[in-house]
Amino acid sequence: MRKIRLQSRGKENLSDRFARELNAEQFAAATAPDGYSLILAGPGSGKTRVITYRTAYLIAKGVPAESILLVTFTRRAARELVSRLEHLVGPEASKVWAGTFHHIGNRIVRRSAEALGLESNFSILDGEDQEEFMRLAMDDAGMFGTGKLAPRPGTLLGLVSYAFNVERPTAEIVLERAPALAPIVETIERAAASYVDRKRKANCLDYDDLLAYWHRLHHELPEAGNAVAKSFRHVLIDETQDTNSIQMNIVERIAADGWGNLTAVGDDAQSIYGFRGANYANILGFLDRHAGANLFRLDLNYRSTPEIVAFTNASIARNSTGFPKDLRSARDSGAKPLVVVAADAAEEAEFVGQQIVEWHEQGVELSRLAVLYRNHHDGVLIQAELVSRGIPYTVRSGMRFFEQAHVKDVLAYLRLMSNPLDETAWRRLLLMLPGIGPAKTAALYAHLSSQEDPLAAAASREAMALVPAKGKGLYAGFVSDLRRIRSCRPETNPAQAMQLVLEGGYPALMKTRYERPENRMADLEQLVLLAGRYDALEKMLADLMLAGDLYGTDALAAAEDNEQVVLSSIHQAKGLEWSRVFVVRLVEDGFPNARALDEEGGEEEERRIFYVAVSRAMDELILTYPNLTSRGRGPIQVTRPSRFLQEVDPELTDQAAIEGSNDLAWTDRVPHP
Ligand code: ATP
Ligand code: MG
Repeated sequence: MRKIRLQSRGKENLSDRFARELNAEQFAAATAPDGYSLILAGPGSGKTRVITYRTAYLIAKGVPAESILLVTFTRRAARELVSRLEHLVGPEASKVWAGTFHHIGNRIVRRSAEALGLESNFSILDGEDQEEFMRLAMDDAGMFGTGKLAPRPGTLLGLVSYAFNVERPTAEIVLERAPALAPIVETIERAAASYVDRKRKANCLDYDDLLAYWHRLHHELPEAGNAVAKSFRHVLIDETQDTNSIQMNIVERIAADGWGNLTAVGDDAQSIYGFRGANYANILGFLDRHAGANLFRLDLNYRSTPEIVAFTNASIARNSTGFPKDLRSARDSGAKPLVVVAADAAEEAEFVGQQIVEWHEQGVELSRLAVLYRNHHDGVLIQAELVSRGIPYTVRSGMRFFEQAHVKDVLAYLRLMSNPLDETAWRRLLLMLPGIGPAKTAALYAHLSSQEDPLAAAASREAMALVPAKGKGLYAGFVSDLRRIRSCRPETNPAQAMQLVLEGGYPALMKTRYERPENRMADLEQLVLLAGRYDALEKMLADLMLAGDLYGTDALAAAEDNEQVVLSSIHQAKGLEWSRVFVVRLVEDGFPNARALDEEGGEEEERRIFYVAVSRAMDELILTYPNLTSRGRGPIQVTRPSRFLQEVDPELTDQAAIEGSNDLAWTDRVPHP
């Protein structure tokens, strides 16, 4: 083994620590020479650990932390990585550029705004804002009032975004993925063009734009692009299998124009974001694109027991594409994965609740437990069950904190302070006022956005004249709230600005519009606390708006109580691990998802999702399915267990059936016949 001589913070030499905490292959990968490296290995084999230690190694070797770009899949992952790095190399670690593609794109695009022809105070649009813009753009393109049903704005956004992320023309994607829309493909292109135009005028960027401008910087603006590329001596990416071609193009270009140092880490068999354009050719073709790159393989799984590893290996065996991998467990033997059949979905939920209580009584911390599902709605019954048993939990799927209407309302006030041209923020707030409908809102925005100072113009006589008599009172109150917020220096004091929103006319408006206003007020008070951690409005808004981005939300993670069970979609559980994991609702049609099966490669992608799910478990894995399901008020149907369960040799699991719905204290562990 090569020896490195490095000093760590503590007494212990960093190289001793590396040798103790990494196996030989991990050590070689973490201390690989400069240049291109690919670390390709299955779940739990320490890929994320290696990327952490490699970053520490680089810093200890003298590479400035601020010249290291470390791309992770979620912000939570970035935070965890940085905190582990701090243990290894001390406070320098916080200078590393660590985050998701979108976060880093946001920082770089803002810095390079001038070269890109943007205003640096642009707002970021989340999914709902984007729909709003798209609806207006569809209207521009004459898609409404034609007597024919128009597609949903979300559908068009999905197509436009997919086209962008796979770098293909929108029209082509429409014909391929939504052939029913073929007759209106030209209208769709017009709407897409108007969508771009509207964002531009309102000084707003959506998530894809953050990547698009970053990409443009490196591909069209050599001077500014090179400066950015040169500022990053090393680029490291975790979860490379879920990057799309735009993302890969960006980092490969940075390495090529800069220092030629790129470390990519991933597992092709865990590529599960194909629906967003993730392209696992990025990882499979890495060695072809970079001749002479180092390849590292890790084959010991430190996460899971041999029984779970055996099941995990078997679960992916039917997939034909990808690099072959056969993991061995580094751990002692444990229980086989347990397959539990419940009579119906209610009983399945009861079982999960009961088992959690039992484990808790045995002293297992709730935070070490997770319930994973393919579709968000598969978790709803479980949530109800946990509520009734008083089990605290956190949900990492579906509607997120920052996507809730009241939270977005309050943020809209602040967005106007930062970007007074922000059309979605104006529309959101104006439409809340009685007497002001879509037409008046459009007229007001057209007027305000043409003025030098739109916020001041809101109080002008011209603006007031556009408001109908019955709305004037509340409009005047709204305008004076804006004035008050603006005068408190919101740029440097977002918490104070938010407090002023809550002291103005907003709470009264909220009470008339939404149910459960007390709970919402409590949320907003939490939001003020969160804002208190920021001294720059722009940074806070970017963080919060990006919290809703597709790869999951975690801005509030620090505020999360640790003693709670995690309920999560499998997509959100990537890269994470828990002592005990349930994967629920394993029925045909649900998992594999029936719609996904219609797509080319759909079954293999679903199988990879299953593989990701089962490989999250360290000590115990429980796989459940109900015998009967009903869809809402629809008829009750007999289910078939998921093919992913049936494919695996039953010898690798124990099976249990729940006897009698009223007695749940027992599940029999019946060895398979
Ligand atoms: P995934 O593919 O799911 O992202 P991964 O390959 O990134 O998995 P890690 O999360 O880095 O794997 O590691 C899995 C677990 O094994 C972690 O708890 C990690 O701390 C532990 N681990 C990894 N390598 C070692 C080692 N050499 N000694 C002890 N524990 C290790
Ligand atoms: Mg990992």
